[in-house]
Amino acid sequence: MRNAVVKVKLARDLRAKNKMAAAELRSLFAGSGVFVLNILGSPGAGKTTLLEASLPRLAAHYRIAVIEGDLYTARDAERLAQNGVDVVQINTEGGCHLDAPMIGGAVRELPLEQLDLLIIENVGNLVCPAGFDLGEDARAVVLSVTEGDDKPDKYPQIFAEADVIVLNKLDLLPYVRFDLRSVQNVLGSLNPAALVLPLSAVNGSGLDRWLDWVKQLAEKKKRGDHHGCEAVRAR
Ligand code: MG
Ligand code: ZN
Repeated sequence: MRNAVVKVKLARDLRAKNKMAAAELRSLFAGSGVFVLNILGSPGAGKTTLLEASLPRLAAHYRIAVIEGDLYTARDAERLAQNGVDVVQINTEGGCHLDAPMIGGAVRELPLEQLDLLIIENVGNLVCPAGFDLGEDARAVVLSVTEGDDKPDKYPQIFAEADVIVLNKLDLLPYVRFDLRSVQNVLGSLNPAALVLPLSAVNGSGLDRWLDWVKQLAEKKKRGDHHGCEAVRAR
């Protein structure tokens, strides 16, 4: 009984500490006008592949840095560093999500004032990254059609708090059991405000709408137009 009470308190302290650190980050990001995008999704959903397809096209317009969250390796960071962007690796040593103090450490390595866009690729996980505010302006959740169409029902929180939901690997749709229309309906009721974008990071279909969404929010942030930016909200 006593153990259970201690555990609850620890979890609450951890969340409170994260909330404070996230608020500090949010005001730091507001001051430098950098648009911060937190990308979440399962291992293998295609987060890194989506970035590989997007970065060369975004880098033509913006100065970009990526914070790459991974358990132990720098494999994804090495893939992304080939795209003309600064990459800071955070290894969580087994930790299953990024938290705001980790991002605070990583941004000290970056020239925030000179950046237009900061992209955080979270640790692959559909559960607890949803509960950790990183001071971001917007959240993108990547779900691939190969993961199965039951995932929004099974992991509703992460989808409910997304600003954009990418349905990736559309090129594989004919080969898998994934009812696109029913997933779109479920997402529409879980999170009516989110933009749902079916695309294929591999063949590029649907990618333009995703890039337009990122550019639009980056421009708004640069202008300091926070009220016009629905994605900017305190969690
Ligand atoms: Mg990755
Ligand atoms: Zn976790």
